[in-house]
Amino acid sequence: MPNTKWPQLAYLGAALEELKQQHRYFHLRVLAAEQKPVATFDGKKVINLSSNNYLGLTSHPKLRRAAIAAIRKYGVGAGAVRTIAGTMRIHMDLERQISKFKHTEACVVFQSGFTANAGTVAAILGKDDLIISDELNHASIIDGCRLSKATIRVFKHKDTADCAKICEETKDWPGRKLLITDGVFSMDGDIAPLPGLCDLAEKYNCMMMVDDAHSSGVLGRNGRGTIDHLGCHGRVDIQVGTLSKAIGAMGGYVCGSRELIEFLYHRARPFLFSTSHPPSVTATCQAAFSLLDSRAGAELISRLWENTRYFQKGLLQQGFPASASETPISPILVGDAAKAYELSSELFEAGVYAPAVGYPTVAEGKARLRAIVTATHTPKELQKALDILGRVARKLDIIH
Ligand SMILES: *Cc1c(COP(=O)(O)O)cnc(C)c1O
Repeated sequence: MPNTKWPQLAYLGAALEELKQQHRYFHLRVLAAEQKPVATFDGKKVINLSSNNYLGLTSHPKLRRAAIAAIRKYGVGAGAVRTIAGTMRIHMDLERQISKFKHTEACVVFQSGFTANAGTVAAILGKDDLIISDELNHASIIDGCRLSKATIRVFKHKDTADCAKICEETKDWPGRKLLITDGVFSMDGDIAPLPGLCDLAEKYNCMMMVDDAHSSGVLGRNGRGTIDHLGCHGRVDIQVGTLSKAIGAMGGYVCGSRELIEFLYHRARPFLFSTSHPPSVTATCQAAFSLLDSRAGAELISRLWENTRYFQKGLLQQGFPASASETPISPILVGDAAKAYELSSELFEAGVYAPAVGYPTVAEGKARLRAIVTATHTPKELQKALDILGRVARKLDIIH
């Protein structure tokens, strides 16, 4: 039936119909209360393997107290963009705190990791420039590359030899060059070959940019990220991170030289044209970094890794194939999208929430479940999830 009330928009209904036929249609699962290891989605209590809440900080008492205190003291909104009246002292304090944590000169906080990537790439490059990008880089990097209007060359995932080939082919490029990669890849949980990529960036005079969204709070000393983990301090011009995953709140940031940050203050469009964070968000992030850089933070990270090892070993014992993951992101490859969605929905009914991801988030034919354990899951919860995973996947003939 064509939609006669909004005839101009009827094509959207047709597009949704097509998504349904391709098993790409979903509804939003609704979380009843806090983001926790066991949580109630759509009215059903499940073991939650679906969040990026690596350290359980979304409901940490210290962060909660910091947010409430900031609301009492500063109110609920910043009231303007950073460049007009929306820069509060705590915004500056947080930027200093993050740049110190990351051992860089300066930092700028954006409204999200997405805008940090897209806003930065689009600001620093133009149409005469070249971007050399890993094929599995995050959508926000891809959008930033497109917005910049620079030429984009894509190298095979984590393949430094393929990257070197592109560097060689473009060695006489007249404009500026940027080599860009995720630190940890969000769908496979594998780690970028940063030392090799830094070698290439240095040899071919490229700026080097790393998006550490999934590794801040997870890898490196007290969660300083892949650059710290792989010993690449001083070799990466532009470090991006998010405040929305392990940090537990919302936002993104860019760390680097003082000049880079000053330039982004003047030219990054999400920074210029979108209101700054509410003070409660900023105060939450300050409390999160203080926690991360303490003994309690190190303990949370070590619990996250213990849980990761336990869960990934358990997946192998259940008969799931080994994955390329080197982090708490645990992909369970299924292949066929319809089958992956079926597995996810049967698991949900059996009490485990591990979302299915298919095209276009991952390549066609590489549909999977994406399970993430956190520091706050108990071994008992993880074992129960593993038992259910094995039982349901065997029932659906995904493992034997
Ligand atoms: C999640 C993610 C982002 C976006 O971060 P938000 O703060 O959620 O906007 C950027 N890059 C990567 C690699 C991510 O996984």
